[in-house]
Amino acid sequence: MPIFQDQKGKNISNFQKMIDEKKNTIRKYYDEIGHLYYGQYKDVNVDMTKDINARCESISNLYIEIEDLNVKILRERGLKKCAVCGTENNLSNAFCFKCGARFDDADAVPADVIAPPNASATPSRQEKKTTIEPAAAPELAATAAQTQEATDEGKEE
Ligand SMILES: [Zn+2]
Repeated sequence: MPIFQDQKGKNISNFQKMIDEKKNTIRKYYDEIGHLYYGQYKDVNVDMTKDINARCESISNLYIEIEDLNVKILRERGLKKCAVCGTENNLSNAFCFKCGARFDDADAVPADVIAPPNASATPSRQEKKTTIEPAAAPELAATAAQTQEATDEGKEE
């Protein structure tokens, strides 16, 4: 489907262009913040806080918009990002193939149709696994500390 592919490519480059424009605007705001702050530093009677904060807020919003566009680009490529671990997944995945987190978007195949790939590794079980072996750990830590001390002494002399 070459026409379909072309349209996808066009959409992606449009989104990319919008991202570039937003990044330029962010750079401009950072520049302005620098000038405003410097003006405040030079003259203690000047308070630019309001102007600085307004630009900071705009920058935050632009970052959100850029993230949104990145999601759209991924979508065009048939992908989506896991909100938990950031791994790119196929749009149809109901669960992240890496960490098993559930996708709640419309593209995801309903949970009762496909089981999560690592259904056994539920978060509650993983938490229980993180117990340290009782006897060995403190000794090892002490040895490591001693070695570190010795190295530090050696450096000073
Ligand atoms: Zn994940």
